[in-house]
Formats: sequence, structure tokens, C-alpha cells
Amino acid sequence: MFSRSRRNIACWFALSMGSILVVFAGVVYYLEVEEQLRNFDRNLYKKTKAIATDAEYQFYQGRWQFDLEQLPMLGNNTLPITGDIAYARWYNSKGELVQFVGSPPAPKYLKLAPGFETIQTPTRSKLLKLSSSKTWLRQITLPVLKADLLIGYLQVATPMTSMRQSLEQTRLYLSLGVPLALSTIGLTGWYLAGLAMKPIRRAYEQLQRFTADASHELRAPLAAILSNAQVGLLAPAEDTTSPRQRLENIVDLSKSMSTLIGNLLFLARHEGALAAEALKSIDLVSLLKRLVSEYQAQAATQGLDFVVQLPEQPIKLVAEPDLLQQAVRNLLNNAFKYTPPEGRICLRIFSQSYRAIVQIEDNGIGIPAEDLPHIFERFYRVDTVRSRQTGGFGLGLAIAQQIVEAHKGKITVQSTLGQGATFKIELPLR
Ligand code: ATP
Ligand code: MG
Repeated sequence: MFSRSRRNIACWFALSMGSILVVFAGVVYYLEVEEQLRNFDRNLYKKTKAIATDAEYQFYQGRWQFDLEQLPMLGNNTLPITGDIAYARWYNSKGELVQFVGSPPAPKYLKLAPGFETIQTPTRSKLLKLSSSKTWLRQITLPVLKADLLIGYLQVATPMTSMRQSLEQTRLYLSLGVPLALSTIGLTGWYLAGLAMKPIRRAYEQLQRFTADASHELRAPLAAILSNAQVGLLAPAEDTTSPRQRLENIVDLSKSMSTLIGNLLFLARHEGALAAEALKSIDLVSLLKRLVSEYQAQAATQGLDFVVQLPEQPIKLVAEPDLLQQAVRNLLNNAFKYTPPEGRICLRIFSQSYRAIVQIEDNGIGIPAEDLPHIFERFYRVDTVRSRQTGGFGLGLAIAQQIVEAHKGKITVQSTLGQGATFKIELPLR
């Protein structure tokens, strides 16, 4: 589902950006052609004007016909077509051909109106006398006036070879550059679509995980509630459990279900980084001092020795205080749950090379080495015997780890079975 959406976004992005690029390349090419043609025409006009000035001069001298061959820039009659000027033609004011140099031969009468014209002529190979290819010429027909009197028309053409070569080069660059840019756009689109999909994918996975975990874990207590209720209703004669007992079972099961849902929602809600507005500058020592007093009373009732070692000076952190307290609470709950009476639990807080450390050490039942890599996983409990004795869902450590990681810290454990466990939370100092 996500890869298809990503592909679609990338395709649409590439298509829209690609169309813009192609249109842009087209406009650039059109403007380039316009610009080159304008320059070309300007040069052609200048050349023709120079010849025309000479024509005017000849006319002024009293000769109504001037000699094109006398003009230095035209040279002789065998002007090569590849030269600067392909041909020059002189028509009188009635449009009749008077004289021409260059090739191809000029028509007897002037056909075109004054202005610029692009024409194609076959190129003659000098050796084979065959027309091998076409040559593009730009032709100007310039009316020549003398004191507002039309004395004739000068028609001059130059080959467009250099301009066509330069345009061909532009086309080559565009035809190489456009596909290259298109593939870059495609790749960028793919990358951007991936980035855009990331939070959606995370949210979707969170939701899926929550649904899967909740439905998996709620099935057993729901079935137990149902059976308690059904048996209570039908009440067979041999069933000795009192209705009150059954109701108490239902209440207990419902409470534990409510805790489970609370924990799962907590995990789903606080997955990923914390919002900047939730973070506060706090003193870790005074935050945990408040927590300690709650557990001192519990230690006394459980017959445990609870030792607390807090530093004199504050340890400043940027954190979400409630969440941080929850993480430490989960570790303390475990220590109190998995340490038999007469045991010893020690809470230590200190700072060490840019890190704040919260260490919770107990000399309780410990964790087998093979279970250590798994205890932070959701719903992981070391063994079923413990589960039955102590209750719990196996979510406390997963929650603690999630909170610590959201604060860019890490949580580690060291334990020997039967000797106790030490959990350590490391958080970056402000
Ligand atoms: P919950 O915290 O959801 O009520 P839980 O305590 O079983 O249930 P976790 O806190 O995630 O779940 O702990 C996972 C398992 O790790 C526990 O079931 C327990 O077996 C083991 N464990 C955790 N802390 C200790 C400890 N201090 N000493 C011994 N075993 C521990
Ligand atoms: Mg726990």
C-alpha cells in the first residue's frame, strides 16, 4: 500500500515537474532561435545596406545600372555558396532583373515583397555535379531609394550554416539535459515521496500494532469475564463459587483490562520523538525525591531495605517530567515486585560526563541470561510461573525504554539469576 502510494506521488511529481521542464526547454529554444535570427538578420541587413549605399552612389554618378562585380565584398561571379554571401541580385524599380552574382541563377522578375525570407537551395557538389544536400539561406529584399525615389531592389542571401550548427548544438544539449533532469526529478520525487510517507507509515504501524496487541491481550480476560458471568447466571448445582466471588473476579479482570488498555494507549501515544512544547527544563534530583517518599512506605510494608543515594546539587535536564517519572516508576515497581522480603533495593542518581544516570539495583530473583535481550520487548515476561505469581503484562520495561529513547537516552540492564538485577537509565544533560 505504502510503496504504491509512494510510486504514485513520485510519478505525479515527475510528470508535473517534467511537463514544466519540457515547456521551459521549449521556450528557451524558441527564444534562442528568435535571438539568433535577429542577430543574423541584423548582420545581413548591414551587409546589404553597404551594397545598397554603393548602388546609390553609382546611381548618383548617372549610371542607372551599377556593376555588382565591382563591389569588393562580392568578389567575382564564382562566389562559393558556402561563403559569406551566397548571391546578390539587382532588380530595377519595375522588378526586372538587371544583374546577379552567385548561385542559384536569379529569376527574371522579382517575385517576393521586400523583407526577410528563409529559403532552401540544393548544394551542388563541385566534383560530382550532383545535388547532395540542401542549404538553408536567409535572403533579404531591400528596396533602394534615392531622395525618395525608388531606384531598384537589392536581393542578397547568406547561408545559415553557422546559425543552424549553433542551434543544432543547443538542441543536442537540450536533448541530453532534459532526460537527465527528468531522471533527477524522478529520483527526487521518489525520495521526497518516501520522506512524506514516513510519518504516515509510522502512524499506520502504530495503529496496527495497537490493534494487534489489544485484540491479542484482551481476548483472554474477556473470555474469563464471559465465563464468570455465564456460569454465574446458569449456576449449576455442583458449582460452589458464590455469586459475590464471581462478581469480584469480574471486577478484578475488568481492572486489569483497563490497566492494559491504558498501557497500550500510552505506548501508542508516546511513540517517536517528543513534541518540543512538552519538554521542560527540570531538576532530576527534586523530581525523583517526590517519587522516593511513595516507595519508602511500600518498602516498609514489604519488609525491604530501600536505600536512596541522591546528589547534593541539582542535575538539570530538558525532559517531559511526568514521562520520566513514569519510566523510573516502572523500574522501581519491578524491583519491588521481583525482590523477596528482606531484600535490598538501591536507587542512585548521579551525573557522569554529560549524562545523568538513574540506577536501580536490587538483590532479588534476577533474570536468566537468555531472557535479557528480550525483556524490553512488549508482552515479554520471563516465565509463566513468575507471571502467575506477580501479575503484570510485560509492558512496564517496554514503556520505560520508549520514554527514555524519546528523551534521546538509553536504558540497559545487568543481571545474574538469583542474585538480582541492575537497571540503568542514561540521559543527556542539558
Ligand atoms: P508490567 O510491568 O506490564 O506490569 P512485568 O513487570 O511482567 O509487567 P516488565 O516490567 O516489562 O513486565 O518486565 C518484563 C520481565 O522482566 C518481567 O516479567 C520480569 O520477569 C523481568 N524483570 C523485570 N525487572 C526485573 C527485576 N528487577 N528483577 C527480576 N526480573 C525482572
Ligand atoms: Mg513491570
